[in-house]
Amino acid sequence: MAYLNVEGAIKRYGATTALNGVSFSVAKGEFFTLLGPSGCGKTTLLRSIAGFSQLSEGRVALDGADLLAVPPHKRDIGMVFQDYAIFPHLTVAENVAFGLKARKVATSVIRDRVAEALATVRLSALSERLPAALSGGQQQRIGIARAMVVKPRLLLMDEPLSNLDAKLRLDLRDEIRDIQRTIGIAAIYVTHDQEEALAISDRICVMDGGSIEQIGTPQQIYGQPATRFVASFVGTMNLLSPEAFGLPAVPGVAQWALRPERLRLAEAGATEHGASGFSGLVEHFTYLGREAHLTVKAQGHRLVAQIAAPPPDLAIEAGREIRLSFDRADLHAFDAAGRRVRT
Ligand code: ATP
Repeated sequence: MAYLNVEGAIKRYGATTALNGVSFSVAKGEFFTLLGPSGCGKTTLLRSIAGFSQLSEGRVALDGADLLAVPPHKRDIGMVFQDYAIFPHLTVAENVAFGLKARKVATSVIRDRVAEALATVRLSALSERLPAALSGGQQQRIGIARAMVVKPRLLLMDEPLSNLDAKLRLDLRDEIRDIQRTIGIAAIYVTHDQEEALAISDRICVMDGGSIEQIGTPQQIYGQPATRFVASFVGTMNLLSPEAFGLPAVPGVAQWALRPERLRLAEAGATEHGASGFSGLVEHFTYLGREAHLTVKAQGHRLVAQIAAPPPDLAIEAGREIRLSFDRADLHAFDAAGRRVRT
């Protein structure tokens, strides 16, 4: 059931086309992520939905009603920004109350709603502090509480975690997901961090150059990338020439691809049923405890292999010849245009 509908969105800035005919829909309660490299059009798309930017062509509808003629403050959409955008001279509680005051909500209702929002983001104890006395993660929680407190129909988040350090990013990422589920709001989240997108989303929309490459669940995006771009942008992918490692020639296949974690260390000379194997020279070996990484040169390719749960004494010196194997079922195939081919 579509709740938000974007159809044929095009945005031009002079000679630059930031959005090149983008269409998708988001269901009620869904966590939908726009993922792509810098400049792919994520922010432009988000700002067009919020109403801060006007599309050159196309349509945006929320709950069946066209949005484009509605000014931003009447769209009933909450927004969380990368740089928090909170008022430094207002206390935490006053920052959160701001949108309700502007809507002339009764004081007693404001008090209750602010208390509820602060409890949700675990800031109740800090309600009378000024933002300068808070950490980055706490400041971003104000941003989230302020967006939620007006009970918007849609929540938009533009890289809300990118100014936080790694540990805080993980904590707040899980918190954002929990809050979104609890209040059941449809959310659109912008990030260029593929791991964050996989972790937080119901569905991910991968964009490149103003166009959609693929929309799917994290499992579909990672497990069945629709294009070579998605395959390489989300996670690491070894790209192999069509004739590499004795693979059979299949019409239409211009490139094979294989995830590093699908490569295994094989016994020298061993042949496994249904598997392909090859020998290569180790360039780098990195032991990381729960996994080990190998860079191997073989038949003109440089491959990355990721060995899960390596034996505690595993050590492979550079320059050594080793044998790796993989199942053919784990190969992805792409045509000359970079689109997924079924084999
Ligand atoms: P980032 O992750 O770096 O924020 P993004 O995916 O959000 O990138 P956008 O900011 O939407 O990308 O930009 C898309 C394209 O449109 C880029 O090529 C950008 O240079 C261009 N662009 C964005 N805003 C403007 C503007 N106001 N004037 C001209 N060109 C713009």
